[in-house]
Amino acid sequence: MLRRHLAARDISDRRVLAAMAAIPREQFVPEHLRERAYDDGPLPIGYDQTISQPYIVALMTQAARVTRRSVVLDVGTGSGYQTAILAKLAKHVWSVERLASLSEQAAARLCRLGIDNVTLVVGDGARGCPEAAPYDAIVVAAAAPSAPRPLLDQLDEGGRLVVPIGDRALQDLTIIERTAGGFRTTRAGACRFVPLLSDEAFGTPF
Ligand code: SAH
Repeated sequence: MLRRHLAARDISDRRVLAAMAAIPREQFVPEHLRERAYDDGPLPIGYDQTISQPYIVALMTQAARVTRRSVVLDVGTGSGYQTAILAKLAKHVWSVERLASLSEQAAARLCRLGIDNVTLVVGDGARGCPEAAPYDAIVVAAAAPSAPRPLLDQLDEGGRLVVPIGDRALQDLTIIERTAGGFRTTRAGACRFVPLLSDEAFGTPF
């Protein structure tokens, strides 16, 4: 996975590659899909949700520029895999998931791996998590029509929001950096995520 799906593409950050090597992805997928855990694609995790493709997890993590000093917000805990990768690199990760059962399963996995610099929250991640703001990085694993305002507000100066922006079918992986005077936006390519369900994003009231 490291050589073929990550390093051969544009994942060059050694710390990201080391984190991807350290976290056992098979522990984050359903039992019957274990032999496909390192495939080059997303996999179902129940409740109509997916664990993201390894390359996308690495790309988002690299784009977030997380360091040992970073406090990170992870929106859409899902399986907890992205949370675990971020936790390897950051000081602390706050991760918000709307479905309590997915959050509970993720908590059990992270605990089993001894990852303790993580706080899991059940709620609407599009509203962020004001209690620990501002964040050095915010990573959103679900698609939004535009950057949710609360997430921009909770970004520290120099901090980076990584979020798929587009319609329900196709998005652009978008990186928004908070500068002294405002925000700077760059794009890292097309991607496809499940929708961020929130009145801050794709309609459905929370
Ligand atoms: N990072 C996850 C990917 C999960 S898919 C992983 O590595 O496995 C995206 C997740 O976002 C789903 O679990 C979905 O339930 C969650 N989600 C969707 N809308 C949300 C919202 N408004 N707040 C929090 N989580 C949300």
